[in-house]
Formats: sequence, structure tokens, C-alpha cells
Amino acid sequence: MKYAIIIPDGAADEPLAELGGKTPLEAAYTPNMDRIAMEGRQGTARTIPDGFESGSDVATMCLLGYDPKVYHTGRAPLEAAAQHIPLSQSDWVFRCNLVTIVDGIMKDHSAGGISNAEAQKLIGDLSRALKLPGFEFHFGVSYRNLLVYRGDEKFDVVTKPPHEIPEEPASRWLPKGAGSQILRQIMDESKQLFARHEVNEVRKETGHNPATQVWLWGQGHAPNLPKFRDRFGVASGCMITGVDLLRGLAVLLGWDVREVEGMTSFHDTNYAGQGQATAAALDQYDVVFSHIEAPDEASHQADYKTKVQSIEHIDRYIVGPVLKKLQTFPEWRILVLPDHPTNIATRKHGYAPTCFAMSGTRVKGIRPAPYSEKNAAASDLQIERGHELLEFFLRGGNL
Ligand SMILES: [Zn+2]
Repeated sequence: MKYAIIIPDGAADEPLAELGGKTPLEAAYTPNMDRIAMEGRQGTARTIPDGFESGSDVATMCLLGYDPKVYHTGRAPLEAAAQHIPLSQSDWVFRCNLVTIVDGIMKDHSAGGISNAEAQKLIGDLSRALKLPGFEFHFGVSYRNLLVYRGDEKFDVVTKPPHEIPEEPASRWLPKGAGSQILRQIMDESKQLFARHEVNEVRKETGHNPATQVWLWGQGHAPNLPKFRDRFGVASGCMITGVDLLRGLAVLLGWDVREVEGMTSFHDTNYAGQGQATAAALDQYDVVFSHIEAPDEASHQADYKTKVQSIEHIDRYIVGPVLKKLQTFPEWRILVLPDHPTNIATRKHGYAPTCFAMSGTRVKGIRPAPYSEKNAAASDLQIERGHELLEFFLRGGNL
């Protein structure tokens, strides 16, 4: 049996006036996703359990079949796994975003989707300028960098994801609690250093958001996840994604990670290349997980046109070729679902259960309707504990 799981990150949304009362998923032309929903089943799954902040770290862990209440220790440690950063049980990892704060207001959690080269220059210079024992910076993808702490400091801090506070006063959401002093100090020093930095001079001149400072959040210790093979009895797995968070989850699950030339976390990504790579990986692996970040980033920018376009590209260049490839195997199943909604109206992640569609061997169609948030919510399949969806999918949806 071959399994393909496709994640259009943050694609679910709410109806928008700009789209004539349709959601981006409804407005987009998605014949392949619709076919999956019509021939198979659709439904909803709650991937953000009560008490958790809505984010891909929690949601993806959940849809991979791991209960966040049991296994989630923070977002940053998952990304550290992607970079194979060795961590002892007492080490801390923080996400270190490059953000744009103007006149005290959080304008952009991604510093305009800053390039890797620019990010590395800024973070490298900050690392050299800071003289704080125990702290080490690690470059990630674009604005998503990491700060590791190895030492005796005990952190009991509350931090805030910067993508959850667009247009809000940043000072209201600075790290609080035991150990937060030093985190604030690092953020402050980055502000001083970046204010006059050549990278930002160029970004401003070329009309891009400057990285005004780092923002620390998502902290935690290394998690302890049982391997996917041991948990679900599926021998081999492969992850294809443009973000470190999911690469890290794959490493922890014991899966291989495949890279694709030109794959990014934005709409400029190589959709067709990712589609081909996902289809090709099915020859070698039992389960292939393909994740596309672009719809989420477009939502955070309130760019509904790009969001619709990216959903259409995913359908055409990834879901289509993967469906075609799957049909060359005797037994197969496909699952499509956003990890969580990201709402254009608020530019934030939503908490509504996400909508999924699955089809393939022994998945019986129940009520044929195109894939959408509304149709998924109207189906008979509402999975309250989102981490149970994967097992349901592996069993063939015969609840
Ligand atoms: Zn997001």
C-alpha cells in the first residue's frame, strides 16, 4: 500500500467578501482535490487541542498521529532536529525570528520574507556582537532562525509567536517570567545593531521590509517521539517540505527528507518540481508527506489573490501528478488537508477544525461534494481528537 499525504499549509479559511462570499479554497479551481473528496470522503479534524496555540508545530504533529498533549515540547526543538543540532535533555531551543517592527508595532513576522543570505549576515553579526555565554545561533530558512542555550539558566517564560500579533504593540508581548530578562536583552541588542545594518539599508532602498530585530519564542527542550514505523507499522517514510519545522518532525519520526531545487516557503516555490519529486518518492517509500507553506504565508500577508493562486498551483502541479502516479500501484490512498486554517481577515492562524479529503483503496464514497470547509463540516466525519485521523486514514477510513 502506498500513502500520499499533501498539506497545503493554512489553506482553510473563512468566507471573504472579496471572493463573493467564498473561501479561498472554494474560489480556487481545484479539480483534483474535488475528485478526491467526491470519490472518497471528506470531513474535519481538530488539530489544535484545547490549550494550545494554533500553529504548524502542534497541528502537523497532530495530523501525523502524535497527540500534542503527550509529545509537544515547543516549536523550536522540532526545527533544531531538522538541522541535526545535538541537544541534551537540559538544553533550551528558542525560535529566533527576524521581524519588522515599526514605531513599536509588529508589522511583519517574516521581515518581508528575507533571503537566507541576508538573514545569515544579520544573525552572524548579532552572534559576534553578543557576548553571552551559553547562547549559540543557528541559521534556518529565511526569517526562521534558532537560538540554542546550554547552561544553568532556568527558563519559565511565556513568549508570543510574532505571526499572532500583526499590527499590535510589540511591547505588550515581550517574553515574561523567570529568565525573560536575558531574552529581552538579546532582542534589544539586535534592535541597536540592525538599525544601522547594511542589509537593512539595501532592503529599505529596494522597497522590502527591513529586519528591525530578532523575536524569541517557541522555546522548549528536545521532544521524545516514538518512530513512525514502531507506532504505525508503516516501514518507510519520506518528507518533502520547504520548512525546517517539518524536516525536523521527519527526522524525529525516522523518515528521510527529500529536497527539491527551487522549493521555498513562499509562492515563488517550485510547485512542479515538488509534484514530480513527491510522485517519484512513491516508488521508494510507503508513505510520502508533501507540505507546501505558500498558502499560509499569503494568508499572513492578507493576500487572498496569492492564496487562491497557490491553492490552484498545489492542485494542478502536486495533487494532480501524485494522483496519477498513485494509480500505477495496486493499492494506494491519498489524504489532503491544511494543517490548520489561516484566516485572511485576521492574518492569523485559526482554531476551527481543519477540513480533509481522502480517497483510494477501500475508502468508500459517502456523499459526493466538492472539497471545501463547508462540505467537510457538513459530512458525517468530524474527528475531535485530530491525532486519530492518521490511523483512520491508514486503516482506510472504515470507521
Ligand atoms: Zn502560519
